[in-house]
Amino acid sequence: MFWEISRAVLQYRRWSCFLKRNHSFLPDDVKSLRSVVNPDVSKIRNIGIMAHIDAGKTTTTERMLYYSGYTRALGDVDDGDTVTDFMAQERERGITIQSAAVTFDWKGHRFNLIDTPGHVDFTLEVERALRVLDGAVAVFDASAGVEAQTLTVWRQAEKHHIPCVCFLNKMDKPAANLSFSIESIRQKLKANPVLLQIPVGRGKNFSGVVDLLTNQRLTWKMNKREDDGRFFAAKPLSEVKEPELMEEVRQARAALIEQVADLDDDFAEVLLTDFGDNFDAVPSIKLQEALRRITLARKGVPVLCGSSLHNKGVQPLLDAIAAFLPAPDERPHALVRWYKDDLCALAFKVLHDKQRGPLVFLRIYSGTLKAQTALHNINRNSTERMSRLLVPFADQHVEITSMTAGNIALTVGLKQTVTGDTIVSSKASAAAAARRAHNEGKTSKGRGQQTSVVLSGVEVPDPVFFCTIEPPTMAKQADLENALNNLQREDPSLKVRLDPDSGQTILCGMGELHIEIIQDRIRREYGIETHLGPLQVAYRETILHEASATDTLDRTVGERRHVVTVELVVQPGDESSQVAFVEDAAGMLSDSVREAVENGLHSSYLQGPLLGYPVQGVSTRIQSVNTEPGTSPAMVSACVSRCMLKALRLAGGQLLEPIMSLEVTVEEEHLGTVLADLAQRRGTVRDIQSRHDNKVLLASVPLAETRGYSTILRTLTSGKATFSLELDTYEAMSTQDQNVLLRRTAGFL
Ligand code: GDP
Repeated sequence: MFWEISRAVLQYRRWSCFLKRNHSFLPDDVKSLRSVVNPDVSKIRNIGIMAHIDAGKTTTTERMLYYSGYTRALGDVDDGDTVTDFMAQERERGITIQSAAVTFDWKGHRFNLIDTPGHVDFTLEVERALRVLDGAVAVFDASAGVEAQTLTVWRQAEKHHIPCVCFLNKMDKPAANLSFSIESIRQKLKANPVLLQIPVGRGKNFSGVVDLLTNQRLTWKMNKREDDGRFFAAKPLSEVKEPELMEEVRQARAALIEQVADLDDDFAEVLLTDFGDNFDAVPSIKLQEALRRITLARKGVPVLCGSSLHNKGVQPLLDAIAAFLPAPDERPHALVRWYKDDLCALAFKVLHDKQRGPLVFLRIYSGTLKAQTALHNINRNSTERMSRLLVPFADQHVEITSMTAGNIALTVGLKQTVTGDTIVSSKASAAAAARRAHNEGKTSKGRGQQTSVVLSGVEVPDPVFFCTIEPPTMAKQADLENALNNLQREDPSLKVRLDPDSGQTILCGMGELHIEIIQDRIRREYGIETHLGPLQVAYRETILHEASATDTLDRTVGERRHVVTVELVVQPGDESSQVAFVEDAAGMLSDSVREAVENGLHSSYLQGPLLGYPVQGVSTRIQSVNTEPGTSPAMVSACVSRCMLKALRLAGGQLLEPIMSLEVTVEEEHLGTVLADLAQRRGTVRDIQSRHDNKVLLASVPLAETRGYSTILRTLTSGKATFSLELDTYEAMSTQDQNVLLRRTAGFL
């Protein structure tokens, strides 16, 4: 008994000794940095976390906020109490929809974390978030490796040249597999993984990692219920008496040093001249500097491992973000050059707060943003006053008077600003920047001077689903319109239009879930119960062969006679519809007639002859336009539209339907059921791959057949399958399917 107690006391002393040496929870540091409103730009890290849904992004974020001292208790996604998933439906659904920016400090660095959604309906949110990031952390489930949505987001990050760090989460799972995950980063992401840590212990026994840079073994306590992981022991490997582990680490470190030398010439030179084969003598700082250069140049991605849920490995991840990901001034931002010290910022998120009105998140690229000043919005060509300026710290929003370049700010009072707008200090400053840009000969896509000084907004893809939305009573119509206006400012992927025939309001969105969430938000945030009509697919129309048509419009309105004759040819073209004038006609047409012809064509492209869907893949040649003197441009447009309709009808109408790319991960025993169901949905299987005990099914399926798929899949597989859906292309419908659709629309079915 005595010996047992003594051993326990000894163990406790040893542990607390480790903690004293190695504690990483620094509330005092946090407090002191917090008073620094505008930290040195080299200390700022604007980062995002990208991950497949369920990889552990929310759990990892929560641990980051906790260890940095901003939350007092560990949030748990499974209990629905996390900070970043602050919107109610997100809690209920357990997914992260809106990108919320959270500011916190870590070891003298200011981190602005832009939360990015994992659900594929919200890739636009991801794109928007990526625009303002300087670096990203990709979180993977170490038992699944790279999954579909990460691939999509990774490609988007590549487009914006964003340096990344990878975190292999869930190392505690029995199926966690380091080499498989590394290989899938190499194969699927076509990236060059650089492993910085070796995990210690497998599955349930995963206790920590060996840091290959410092040769230290980092150990966390095993029981997450009793230990929050704030403290961990860091012990030099030389003190660890485990020959097998030491040998594994020796090999991994040698491989790391060789890999870094291959990727960075400066390091290779230092290695050759100063150390030769004596890899043990290579100081960690040299490796760290080289790794930073490699990461910033996107020649390689540092890979770390951990288990967020079990509170292991998150602090080294925070250290890696500070060490390897870039500060804002290390990233090329073209506009900074033109605005110099003048303010230039991008509104990347608008939220509506009941008390404070619209809150706009801004990323400042140059200059200083001051509270209670007028700001000029280039996109809206309007000037409005910002009343308050806040730092969105994770625990509370702190009011400040000014904020400098590189930071993320939360502003109150900007009522006209829409997500994606560029904000500057004044109209004059925009004009001065435009002059500088013009002098440098930089105009963006030839759209003139003004647009060249606008930060590129988010490319909003066309919505694929739409439905009617109605308020409970006509008295609520105005409130509903107001709610929809606000929601559109927050979310440019939501489109609202009026049906010219029925006068009904139509809601157009990126997916079934997107539309459901909008309805949910209208109910919760604006207190309006709405009724949604059946969800409809946004088809497109095209033609099968060439056709020509001639039309004459002869109409007398009042005293005036309008006579116009148009002759045109339509032919199948590539996806982007084109208009080409024949040369003779082009030379003879006045500017006003040419504009009227273009307007007429434009409206014909918006509504095809079959079911009124937009027309694509049709190129039009105007053969001739003859007008009699006195004919108004509106009559020319009307005649062109009528003639186009004739030609399109003659050219054989063809409906195009959105085809989604579907990835289902399912246990082998349910594969047959899922395949059978897919066959009924006109799906085509492209590949079936194995991933551990699971099968990954890659297929194409028409969007129209995916309605309610998440519920059906859950039922078919007892909730054991996951899937992702993404718009792939538009494809011609078979004659039989097209006829069914046409008859159903006409009310015959
Ligand atoms: P997100 O969808 O990427 O935000 O993922 P969440 O953070 O919501 O986590 C998804 C699920 O994985 C939750 O049930 C978590 O409890 C669980 N999870 C998160 N991290 C880990 C981990 O390190 N190990 C294990 N075993 N489960 C984890």
